[in-house]
Amino acid sequence: MRQYLDIKDKHPDAVLFFRLGDFYEMFFEDAVLGARLLDLTLTTRDKGKDDAVPMCGVPHHAARGYIAKLTELGHKVVLCEQVEDPKLAKGLVKREVVRIVTPGIVLDDEVLEPKLPRYVVALVPASRAPAKPAKARITKKPAFAVGTRPGDRPVVEAPPAIDTCGLAYLDATTGELAATELAMSAVVDELVRIAPREVICAPELLAESSRLAPIRARYRCAWNAGVIPDDVGEELAALDVDPELAERPLAGRAAAAVVAYARSTQPTGALPITRLALYAPGDSVVLDEAAIANLELVETLIGRKRQGSLLDVVDDTVTAPGGRLLRRWLLYPLVDVERIRRRQDAVAWLVERPALTDAIRKTLGKIADLERLAGKCTLGVATPRDLGRLRDALLQLPELIELVRSGHDAFSRLNWSGDPMLLDRPADLPALLDLRACADPALPKLARRLSEALVDEVPALLKDGGVIRAGFDATIDDCRRLADGGKDEILAIEEREQKATQIASLKVRYNRVFGYYLEVTKSHLAKVPAHYVRKQTIATGERYVTPELAELERKVLGAEDTLAAREAELFRIEVQRVAQLARQVSAAGAALAVLDACGSLAQVAAQRGYCRPTVDDGLALDLVDGRHPVIEALLPEGTFVPNDCRLDAGPESTEQLVLITGPNMAGKSTYMRQVAQIVLLAQIGSFVPAKAATIGLCDRVFTRVGAADNLSRGDSTFMVEMRETATILAKATRRSLVVLDEVGRGTSTFDGVSIAWAVGEYLHDVLGARTLFATHYHELVALADTRRRVKNVSVAVREHKGEIVFLRRVVPGGASKSYGIDVARLAGLPASVIARSREIMSRLEGGSQLAASPQLSLLAPAPPSPALARLATVDLDRTTPLQALQILDELKALLS
Ligand code: ADP
Ligand code: MG
Repeated sequence: MRQYLDIKDKHPDAVLFFRLGDFYEMFFEDAVLGARLLDLTLTTRDKGKDDAVPMCGVPHHAARGYIAKLTELGHKVVLCEQVEDPKLAKGLVKREVVRIVTPGIVLDDEVLEPKLPRYVVALVPASRAPAKPAKARITKKPAFAVGTRPGDRPVVEAPPAIDTCGLAYLDATTGELAATELAMSAVVDELVRIAPREVICAPELLAESSRLAPIRARYRCAWNAGVIPDDVGEELAALDVDPELAERPLAGRAAAAVVAYARSTQPTGALPITRLALYAPGDSVVLDEAAIANLELVETLIGRKRQGSLLDVVDDTVTAPGGRLLRRWLLYPLVDVERIRRRQDAVAWLVERPALTDAIRKTLGKIADLERLAGKCTLGVATPRDLGRLRDALLQLPELIELVRSGHDAFSRLNWSGDPMLLDRPADLPALLDLRACADPALPKLARRLSEALVDEVPALLKDGGVIRAGFDATIDDCRRLADGGKDEILAIEEREQKATQIASLKVRYNRVFGYYLEVTKSHLAKVPAHYVRKQTIATGERYVTPELAELERKVLGAEDTLAAREAELFRIEVQRVAQLARQVSAAGAALAVLDACGSLAQVAAQRGYCRPTVDDGLALDLVDGRHPVIEALLPEGTFVPNDCRLDAGPESTEQLVLITGPNMAGKSTYMRQVAQIVLLAQIGSFVPAKAATIGLCDRVFTRVGAADNLSRGDSTFMVEMRETATILAKATRRSLVVLDEVGRGTSTFDGVSIAWAVGEYLHDVLGARTLFATHYHELVALADTRRRVKNVSVAVREHKGEIVFLRRVVPGGASKSYGIDVARLAGLPASVIARSREIMSRLEGGSQLAASPQLSLLAPAPPSPALARLATVDLDRTTPLQALQILDELKALLS
């Protein structure tokens, strides 16, 4: 108990799994918690005594499931093992903490999702306010100036120091480590994008009153205390670090903190980190929480499912690292034309070589997750099966390199066989697809070595034995011969003794108590020779030992022990060998991930008929026959109606703000989201669902989606809607893309129209950002009368025999009518309510009192005729002629 308490003392914030023989036991409050969360029986030690200790436990072989459950619930689990053989220990068995599993640092393949990174984040806010607040730097947006050169990039101003926060994220399974500095106000957005399972920060900041409290409230995951080291150098030594880190002290401290935290969870293993990447918020398209959610980049708005997200459509990767990379690409779209073109070149090259791409993807699919396998070797948690998969993956590399380099030949052969002209085409392999990292000579050497050392079909676990290949190690071969020979010898002894004693049923058997023995049944006892030593009497006969058997046993068991120890030793050496080359192995894995991600984009482009967009530094956006990538994929082929889109933030433009009117359900939201998704796809280097596309880079994509559309996030209040709108108006630049969907819907019509109108004016007059503005308030079309860069479009509907038909086509000009009542009728509102609505509407429209005193006209309408009201309730289909007469009578009475 003292040993337990000593260890527990060092880990007060974690559940301690304390190894006792075949069980992990929990005690005290850990036991109470564990019993409740894991559904275990709570017992006590020293039952009956006053100070009985609550305890519960789980069998060690089933522990991983329980550990996973606790960490997924946000707890930390400390694994404390017996580190010496209890049989050999003098006194108390030595125990040590071998690993700490936290929500953000999990190494268990059964818990990790292959295509998702597992991040832990460290946050380090600037320590305290300067004595005198620095003079506030007002970054007022310049009024839109006609004549400003198109292509001007906005000046990105560094956030003022006091409001800054260092942020670093780490995936301990791969060693991916990156850090940045950003404004406190942007932290939640960045957390949403990184999606860590755990955030650590200084313990004092976890206090509820701290500046991080609002962030914690909005980003829910496990928030734990970590040490924020002052000496950054020590933690980050030996890593490749950007020299710029010196100017980013908070980023450096956050990186050091997350590394120190991860190290503290692996007392017995090293971390696979080799590099700290620095990044800045301006390196990629700024996407806030709302944009990520509303554009359904990685999960749907409703139900938060991956299926139905943009990622789901474009992710056809065949490897886990490829899947993780593509996800990163989608969440961090590029803002550099050159880099985008480089990706496009790679995708295009593959699109042009469909058969080759197919072959490449087939081979890629056979290659295991090199990044995580290298990580596991470094961490010392690799299993024999892991090493086997790593070997098999490395063995595939030469073929894959050959395949990609032969691109030109393969292309010609597979597609235009026999055409000699084409064989002269230069291969011009795009830079991104160059697998130089996979051609490191150390890799085939490693593969050869592993092939020599390991059997072909490697068993899952070390304890299963049979890991090392025959002929690799003399000791192992000897031991195996002995162990196997032992079995042969047993058979030989059995046969010989059967003959000698004339007892055909004599058997050589083994149990743990006596070792090898001879068993003779009752009826033959008389024939037992004198030199047999009787050991045990059983119901059916007697058991004997002989010196010969004892000797054999010693040899066989000794050989088995030696064999197991030697296999374990050699296995560890091979794991070490990989660990030493982990950097090269994971670099190869990273190169394959790029190939896979590009291959996926190529596959999707080819399969769905996407085009290569022209991406430039301009301020225009021009889509011909654009489609919504997700909805298109859901509908039967060819039924999605494509639409053009033109936006231009240039000075001569007449279409900077496109106002989209049309009834509910017409397709406004779909149209706007499709434009935004196409822009993002283009900026990750993907092809896009359109016939042709020209896209001037966007620095930020903002979305504001009507309250009613995102109830699932619990953000249904008008306040939230306005806050999001405020953010857009504060932060959008001329290079941004703004998508406003039904601004003002969350309040009364007249408030709503007024706010929407003023927001539209501001976007036009002040911000000048390319804007798509959807509203079912058709009153807003008048905005174009006074604002030159406002253009009206509408989603067409047709009335057909009194029914409204949605055409899904975006046409020039504003909608003249809301059709709200028509849609309500389609939705099945009672006929009487529809009739009454039409009546009220015609009165509102007809009377000039709408403008004069709209509230009055609504609240105190001329009393509706009771006769008409009664008439409206009549269902003619269910009215008999007699009833009709009665109704007529009633009506007459009402009129009089
Ligand atoms: P609104 O925002 O105008 O109320 P939505 O954009 O939500 O309308 O569209 C309503 C439905 O119409 C969507 O669920 C979608 O399936 C369908 N739809 C929208 N645009 C198209 C299109 N271009 N082609 C086919 N179906 C579409
Ligand atoms: Mg809508």
